[in-house]
Amino acid sequence: MSNENAQELIIGIPRGMSFYSNYPFWYGFFTSLGFKIVLSDPTTKQTMSEGSALVVTETCLPIKIYLGHILNLIKKGVKNIFVPSLQSIAPKIYNCSKIRGLPDLVRNVVKGDFNIIEATLDKSAKGKGLYSFLAEAVKPFGITSFDVIKKASKDGWRVYNNFIVMMRSGMNYKKALSYALKGKILIEDAEATAAISVALISHGYNIYDERACMKIFDKLEKMGVKVYTALNLTDEQLAEGISTIGHHEYWANSAEMTGAAGHYLKDNKIDGIITLNAFGCGPDSLMVETITRKAKDAGKPMLALTIDEHTGEAGFVTRLEAFIDMLFRKKRMNLTKTVDIKEYDYTPQTNICETVITK
Ligand code: SF4
Repeated sequence: MSNENAQELIIGIPRGMSFYSNYPFWYGFFTSLGFKIVLSDPTTKQTMSEGSALVVTETCLPIKIYLGHILNLIKKGVKNIFVPSLQSIAPKIYNCSKIRGLPDLVRNVVKGDFNIIEATLDKSAKGKGLYSFLAEAVKPFGITSFDVIKKASKDGWRVYNNFIVMMRSGMNYKKALSYALKGKILIEDAEATAAISVALISHGYNIYDERACMKIFDKLEKMGVKVYTALNLTDEQLAEGISTIGHHEYWANSAEMTGAAGHYLKDNKIDGIITLNAFGCGPDSLMVETITRKAKDAGKPMLALTIDEHTGEAGFVTRLEAFIDMLFRKKRMNLTKTVDIKEYDYTPQTNICETVITK
């Protein structure tokens, strides 16, 4: 690739949907090929309302937000926008229909002067694995060499693996992402403790989008709570969590939801579970229902939060505060119950007085 051509390689990536879990890979992959990546701006109220205006009300919030990000990239003048179709991430494990049909949705509802760089990943179909997916993504830019794509893929995995290692060490998302993109890796002391620990069960696009989740991590941290998520767990822990819940993995997002919930329900350091799902999400509503029943059986307190573009911050904070307050009270009660109060046979020393009196 000549330098002249390399300067023309610009790709827009919307800050939505799979961005929150896959961006470290895309960063390593595209930059290795000489692309300049243009990201959409972080989500704002405007992103949400502009995206919502393109689809019917019942559409889930993450999809509305994603469409808002596409509009943002178009406004920035980006001509080629990456919109992958992630059909199946492993044999017989599928994404929800909205994620699978993302390029079709964007094509049909967003009008503007831009090209959709679409590529299909379908690990349940023959010949639609990772390399074919990557080749499809860069073919419109004239990159066809398998060796070049393979090398870029390795660079993508390097950034992604560094990010995952830092997340599993307990580092917070923003910090792990920032280090990984700078090519750094830092392992923190995982066992920094807090008075209360909760597991936040949701998808990356719900909880790492600060506008969508109304900065739930900052709010919980200010309340003295340590937050654990699916990204802190290994694939094995997530798989074992799914079977604890009694589910078979069919949905690609089962691992983030039932897998993480199943693991944290059995984890004694976790005082409570918070699920956060988007209004209008069919798969999540079924999974949250099952998690609620299992949490009840396990005696683990649980709070189920639902978000949409109209969710008010005041009500959201009140529910969080009430839940955390209850966890603190429960913990204090349990501590009081376990304090070992020993009974002593105490005989006062009266012999000195008695001696004085009897004299
Ligand atoms: S899994 Fe739920 S929240 Fe995610 S895209 Fe599908 S319907 Fe929307």
